[in-house]
Amino acid sequence: MDTATPQSPLLGTLPQAPGPTCHGAACRERPLVQWRRRLTAAELDVELAIEQGRRDARYALRDVRKPPPIEGPMPTGHDYVHAVYACGTHAITIDSAALVHEATCAGPNSPTLPQCGCSPEATPEPAPTPTQELPAHWTTAVGSG
Ligand SMILES: [Zn+2]
Ligand SMILES: [Zn+2]
Repeated sequence: MDTATPQSPLLGTLPQAPGPTCHGAACRERPLVQWRRRLTAAELDVELAIEQGRRDARYALRDVRKPPPIEGPMPTGHDYVHAVYACGTHAITIDSAALVHEATCAGPNSPTLPQCGCSPEATPEPAPTPTQELPAHWTTAVGSG
């Protein structure tokens, strides 16, 4: 009696589910890690064209009996990041992956992996928590007894 698990003739030939692959050159591995980088000038132009298209569409749909819609300032490069995906072989260090990298970051194609070779943006300092003094009648004297 044959106890081998029957194999589907299609098994192994199914296409990979759509999704990102490693951004290493010619690497088709599934990504294990991800980090962020700023957009290049060309990528930013594409994003700004999309945003301008959204604004134009909103303007075209406006109620002409009311004042025109007020749009905020156009976004800048600091408003966008792109995701960078990498397999284990092409991953940068975990500490570096926590930061936002330069648009020109070599990332998974860096010749010095796990160092990427760029200077990632420093994490912003947390905003200081405002402190207030309690009124004197809410404090207790310490060490007076
Ligand atoms: Zn890879
Ligand atoms: Zn980098």
